[in-house]
Amino acid sequence: TEALKRGRTVELFEAQRLANAAWELSLLTRIDEGMRNGDIWLAYQPQWDYREGRISGAEALIRWNDPVRGPIRPDEFILQAEQAGRIDALTYWVLDQAITATERFNALGPTFQVSINLSAQLVDKPSLISSVAEIVRRRGIDCRLLTVEVTETAGMCNRPAAIRNLQALRSMGFRLSIDDFGTGEASLSYLAELPSDELKLDRRFVSKIVHHERERHIVASTINLAHALRQIVVAEGVEDLSTFELLRQLGCDVGQGYHIAKPEPLELLLSRYATMAEPGTARAQKR
Ligand code: C2E
Ligand code: MG
Ligand code: MG
Ligand code: MG
Repeated sequence: TEALKRGRTVELFEAQRLANAAWELSLLTRIDEGMRNGDIWLAYQPQWDYREGRISGAEALIRWNDPVRGPIRPDEFILQAEQAGRIDALTYWVLDQAITATERFNALGPTFQVSINLSAQLVDKPSLISSVAEIVRRRGIDCRLLTVEVTETAGMCNRPAAIRNLQALRSMGFRLSIDDFGTGEASLSYLAELPSDELKLDRRFVSKIVHHERERHIVASTINLAHALRQIVVAEGVEDLSTFELLRQLGCDVGQGYHIAKPEPLELLLSRYATMAEPGTARAQKR
């Protein structure tokens, strides 16, 4: 009976392995299909510039409406795409879409920045720069209008290679942003080593600044530190008026969050961003 039990375990194991393989294969084709047929799309979340008093940019955030499973959370399926070896194609698709968005926003009015997220899996890959350069050449875009957001994680294996890549992106003209600042393994060493232009304060801190003194001090000093290093500061997760106002007082440059606007389809944001009033002010509420 022992041998029989072992045999069954092996069988089960094999069945599981095959199921996983089949699932990964279907994931691959569904990602490729989704990019073609619109099941995968980008939402754009506007960013309020305190200095200029206007929406001056937006972050592209990936969305997937799987016809079978319904909407899938981006952090979840980015992870799956990484595991399935499809993160390259997905990221280059995002870049191409974001370039179109950049052209359209900038055709309508003053300078408009579009940010994209770069997966930690891709950031140290030798092929990254040539692929990006190829897209940029084909599209003929001014890279200074695009911001690349990187998150510091343990997932980034080859740090020197990552830093070389990021430096190369920057010399092409891309702005660099450190995403989710304060939550990673080595925020400060990142700040010291990376040629970044922008620091994005994680919403775990931002959401607490009104009611918690410790987080308020952390955010205030991080803003000062960033400015001393000639970086601009973007606060993510700005969910209410008091947070929005306090960030202004603390000298924050740009705010992003539900209080300003949720991530929206491109066409919707294109049609309304230029007339978006300061969020939550008397002026905006009167309308
Ligand atoms: P992230 O880059 O830190 O993006 C900010 C996340 O906060 C977004 O979640 C956004 O919808 C959400 N958010 C914005 N304002 C608020 C707010 O006021 N309150 C709260 N609670 N949340 C807010 P989302 O869209 O679910 O994306 C999650 C993460 O998935 C992103 O975090 C990013 O790391 C990743 N991601 C999204 N799109 C891409 C992509 O194209 N490529 C890669 N590699 N990663 C992506
Ligand atoms: Mg981001
Ligand atoms: Mg972030
Ligand atoms: Mg975050």
